[in-house]
Amino acid sequence: MFDPGEASENFLKPVNVASALFFETPQQIFARVHREIRPRTPAPAVDVEYRRFANANSQIRLEAGRLAVTITDLLAAAPAPVTEALAHILLGKLYRRPAARQYAHRYRLYLNRKDVRRQIGLLRQERGRKIHTGPEGELYNLEEIFEELNRAHFGGMMARPAIGWSLVRSRTRLGHYDPSHNTIVISRIFDDARAPRLALEYVMFHEMLHLHYPVDHSGARRCVHTPEFKAHEKQFPQFREARALLKKLL
Ligand SMILES: [Zn+2]
Repeated sequence: MFDPGEASENFLKPVNVASALFFETPQQIFARVHREIRPRTPAPAVDVEYRRFANANSQIRLEAGRLAVTITDLLAAAPAPVTEALAHILLGKLYRRPAARQYAHRYRLYLNRKDVRRQIGLLRQERGRKIHTGPEGELYNLEEIFEELNRAHFGGMMARPAIGWSLVRSRTRLGHYDPSHNTIVISRIFDDARAPRLALEYVMFHEMLHLHYPVDHSGARRCVHTPEFKAHEKQFPQFREARALLKKLL
């Protein structure tokens, strides 16, 4: 990110003079467009935040004299003229005066660029993807199972994450904890009268231990079982029996 303060220090260098003159932060762009379309309204302070959205939506609010702009992070790397066009569109919405056609056109042109469209499609897929169907199954409610184990093994002190049944009846992935979504997903094969409840409880307990022993290097998808983790896991009543049931089930 360009730092305007740094530019004024090096002001004598011609290359930085050029950037200092032509570089505007998104805040400055929104403030300038506000002056252009509402010259008589006192200029509000502007906050611009880029946030993860599953689509290309952006929002604007005027609150206590501050303009709060939330822009999808898909546009974080957009060229300044695109941010300017978006400022015209959002401020136009705020003041109920549609932006001039040229801005709407410029913005649409950018979103329709092949590379941009592709990136939006990929992010939508990744962020909108449903990874479970909620805790209520045919036979078992996973939140009830979680709370029973929570009371029995963690003094009821474990904060409940999102919990749900997997979309498919996976036999290779019986359960997993996803720290980025704070979600436990349990394989749907356990929501079945043929699958013993003890096996389901054991898998849930295992995933709860992943919450209890968080892994330092965040973002790792690996299943990490430290010695403490394994020792704690053995405290599960009927540990051997549960493991044997799982082997049979697979
Ligand atoms: Zn594990």
